[in-house]
Amino acid sequence: MQKIKKVPQRKCIVCQERESKKGLMRIVKNKEGQIFLDPTKKANGRGAYICKDSECLKKAIKTKALNKAFKIEVSSEVYENLLKELESYE
Ligand SMILES: [Zn+2]
Repeated sequence: MQKIKKVPQRKCIVCQERESKKGLMRIVKNKEGQIFLDPTKKANGRGAYICKDSECLKKAIKTKALNKAFKIEVSSEVYENLLKELESYE
């Protein structure tokens, strides 16, 4: 059975959950290679979604999920900043 894909599903890059009650947070990598949270979901750049849940981001840090999502080396400093910021949105 083949399904026709219209809109790409927004899924958490860590747990593969679709939008939950908590919702997903968009993380963006812009042209300059900066990585930041995008609560407006409108920033330009390549986006990846993650649960608005620091537990998922902590797993992403362990597995370096953002390195894979953005195909670049993401420093632990960047991960830590994302975590701090995400915790402020929880
Ligand atoms: Zn998740």
